[in-house]
Amino acid sequence: MFEVRLDDVHQRAATGVLPPDLLVDDLIRDAHRRYATDDEGVVADYIPILGRAEPSDFGLALVDVAGHAHEAGDVQRRFSLQSVSKAFVFALACERIGHAAVHANVGVNNTGLPFNSVIALELNDGSPMNPMVNAGAIATTAMIPAGSAEARWDIVLDGLSAFAGRELALDEEVYESESVTNHRNRAIAALLQSYGRLDEDPLESVDVYTRQCSLAVTAHDLAVMGATLADGGVNPVTGHRVVAADVARDTLAVLATTGMYETSGEWLYEIGLPAKSGVSGGIVAIAPGKGAVGAYSPRLDAAGNSVRGQRACAHLSRSLGLNLFASVARDEREEIG
Ligand code: GLU
Repeated sequence: MFEVRLDDVHQRAATGVLPPDLLVDDLIRDAHRRYATDDEGVVADYIPILGRAEPSDFGLALVDVAGHAHEAGDVQRRFSLQSVSKAFVFALACERIGHAAVHANVGVNNTGLPFNSVIALELNDGSPMNPMVNAGAIATTAMIPAGSAEARWDIVLDGLSAFAGRELALDEEVYESESVTNHRNRAIAALLQSYGRLDEDPLESVDVYTRQCSLAVTAHDLAVMGATLADGGVNPVTGHRVVAADVARDTLAVLATTGMYETSGEWLYEIGLPAKSGVSGGIVAIAPGKGAVGAYSPRLDAAGNSVRGQRACAHLSRSLGLNLFASVARDEREEIG
């Protein structure tokens, strides 16, 4: 009989290593320089305060699984976490109730429709389809077991802070601006409830979701949070285990198919990494076993993804050999447009 030795399996599961630190530093600086003057895209303003972002801000950070940071540009500029929170709250929910329960109640397939679509719910018997759209994220947050909405928020805040390796805080102005304008998310939560897919109070559920979106973070934070998923659930900077290794793996699988709005397929085709972006201009792209890129630049394309962030990630995926589907590390093809 063919015998599989555990050592062999571990070797075969390895996804390779990053180039030496100094070269990674250079390549990050190079990627930043290439796109720093790219001014395509528009800053989101459907949440009024987001429209006040400085369009020229651009930070790029890579944190590797040894906990080393490689950075260029505005990596300490604060912005709100927005949809990037969905990835990490999904992991926190899986950790607490198991991946089967989240799969059954929320789903893991792409809707093919915008992140705040109501039609997607109506077309699918009230199933949110996946945790990276607003309906799925509100449902996921509400599934975290807690005695009250306040206790649920504490769990979310503690968990997201553990991913970041520091105590995150609410941007009160963003929270206020989003709370008075999030009529659509409240409608989505009411619809979820009408389909029997939300056990918690809809308004309280939207409120916890709005708070998670309003946390102030930096590109550096995104890189640390992503590196925790790349490192099998252990924050490589603090050394603390935040979620189990299989939860980190499941989260990356969901991100690969649904993390970049309706252009998740194009992203995976060009860049080949699980990732999540948010409307404030943040992107986290994760290279399992290697590290993660955190990017911030607020000008977005039509789907809601940061233009500079995407271009820098595409360049880094090629120059650092990060594409999960590549059997040859270097890819010399032209840049994507
Ligand atoms: N808080 C935002 C909303 O609910 C998040 C959107 C996003 O980043 O995709 O509309």
